[in-house]
This record gives sequence, C-alpha cells and structure tokens, in this order.
Amino acid sequence: MQNFFELTLHQLENAIGAIGNEKFRARQLYKWIYNKGVFDFHEMTNISKSLRLIFKDMFCTDPPEIKDILRSNDGTIKFGITASDGRTMESVLIPEKGRNTLCLSSQIGCRMGCKFCVTGKIGFVRNLTSAEIIGQIMAVKRYLGEQKITNIVFMGMGEPVDNLDTLLHTLEIMKNPLGLDFSHRRITVSSVGLLEGLRTLEPKVAGLAISLNAADDGKRTYLMPINRLYPIRDIIGFVREFRGSKRVRITFEYVLIKGFNDSLDDAQQLAQLLTGVKCKINLIPFNESPYVEFKTPDTKAVNQFHDYLLQRHFTAIVRDSRGQDIGAACGQLGARYLGTVQEIS
Ligand code: SF4
Repeated sequence: MQNFFELTLHQLENAIGAIGNEKFRARQLYKWIYNKGVFDFHEMTNISKSLRLIFKDMFCTDPPEIKDILRSNDGTIKFGITASDGRTMESVLIPEKGRNTLCLSSQIGCRMGCKFCVTGKIGFVRNLTSAEIIGQIMAVKRYLGEQKITNIVFMGMGEPVDNLDTLLHTLEIMKNPLGLDFSHRRITVSSVGLLEGLRTLEPKVAGLAISLNAADDGKRTYLMPINRLYPIRDIIGFVREFRGSKRVRITFEYVLIKGFNDSLDDAQQLAQLLTGVKCKINLIPFNESPYVEFKTPDTKAVNQFHDYLLQRHFTAIVRDSRGQDIGAACGQLGARYLGTVQEIS
C-alpha cells in the first residue's frame, strides 16, 4: 500500500492510470483529502463504491498520529507526531492575528551542529520523507478542524536544504492548487546557508531565512561549524547575486547571545556587513535550555542592538520567543531525544 502523502498529483495520476482508471480521479482524491480534509474513502461520494474500495486497498490516507501536545501560555502549540519508524517529529503551531503558521521539521536531529541549538546536540539521525513532512501538516490540519493553517515555515528540527530532493518534492505537493494550495508567498525555508541547495531552491519559494548570527567568520564558525564551508562573504555574495530577481524575501536570522554577539560593536559590524544588501533582520534573543551553555541577553543589550540597526535604516525586528515555556521556541526543539536516548538508537 502506498502512502498517499508521498505522491505529487502527477504521480497519483500515473498510479491511477496504471490500473486503467481515468486521471481525473487523482484530482478528485487530491481535493477530498487535501482540500476538504476527508480521509475516509467511504465519504468520497462522487467516486463509485467499487472504485473507493480499490483506492482503499491502494493508498494509505491516515495522517500520522499525534502522540503528545504541549500548549504554551502564549497560544503556541507543540505537537509530537509519530514518524514512520516510531520516532517523533516535532511541529509547532504559532497562532497570530489573522494567521496560523505551522513550523515543520525536515529531519530527525541535524548534522549542522549549531552550538546554540538543542537539535544540533542530537546529531543527525535521518532525513524525513515527503510523506512524513506532509503528514505533519495533515495531522495538525485534522486536529484543527475548521481552523486553517495559513503559512508554513521550515524552521523545526533539521536543516531543510540538507534534505533538498525531499524538500523540492514536498514543496510540489504543498503548492498544488487542487490540494493544500500553499502559494510560494506563504512558505519560508530557513537555512544555515547551504548555497548550492539554495540556488536550486530559490525559484520555488518566496521566503528564505538565512541563519547568520555573527558578522565575523571567527564567531560564526564557533557557533556554526558549517561556516568553514560557507563563509560569510559567500553568503552575502549569494544574496546580492540573486536579489536581482526581486522575487525572494531574504531575512537574516541573528540569535542574540549574552556576552557573545550582542554588543554595540557586534551591531556595528553587522550593519557594515549588510550595508547595501536588501534584507530584513530578525533578532532573536537566545532561548535558554539546560542542554546549551549560552545565556539570554539583557533587554538593555537587545534594545541597544536593535536601535542601532534602526538608526542605520535597516528593517530589523526583535522576534517574540513564542512557546518558550513548552520548549517550542527557536533552538529548543528535540530535547526529548536528549532525555530518551533509546528513541534514536
Ligand atoms: S539551528 Fe537548524 S541547522 Fe543549526 S543545528 Fe539547529 S536545526 Fe540544525
């Protein structure tokens, strides 16, 4: 039996065509499942009973099970969702005025090893499949009922561009207008800056968030070992190069860490680095975790850093740390794996 959530519309048409049925049946299934949220073939009333039975034997349409849910005081919800091997994928729903953003995981663990990130401490376990990534959306969609997921961000566990083929395949499924219908404007992919992958990805999404975190290579390499392969000048060069298309919104993420990269000097270096680069800067005060050595910066330091960038006419915002109390904020996902090592062995 094939997992329905693995298939692009084209693949589904081929699978249905291969058993002698018309391809429009694939479009009907896409609409029922993705658009209307109907998972049971018996309820698909515009398909004959005999064909529904055939499809029931061919495709698994059950969204993965939600094994645990944590709710933050600020309305953020963290879902632990069962992956195909029983491990847990973490997804975070961030409700805001007029939008519901779902933050997806693309891997179990991560090989990038960023020092400020709990997922980085786990190390790489495996890539998630498209069925598992789409499965996260479908599990949350079923949980929400009438409420809609309006935006998708790939900022959960894992480096999405390190799982590029799956990411591209998943985006094709997500964006199909007959199905989930997420336009490229409503999808943001966050990356440490794997530049070859980002070049391939660039036409497919409108939002790229690049995790920068320091304006000099020494500090960035300390925080993010990948900087040895993709140093700051290459990342800035890449952004300048493709900004010509004007289609893509670039955001630089900068995690502010007390006493490490939160001084006025650091702000000045950052401003110098990004002068003339069309971008937005998200400042994210570090979220403390028992698994990571760093500390949250003082509010005064955050404000001073932010004000300096504003004075230099950058678009810079200090991001609220949503879901901090439930371990769902930026850099906090995956702590369950450090507590229960047997789950990843
Ligand atoms: S910040 Fe992202 S890329 Fe870095 S270790 Fe964490 S999950 Fe991986």
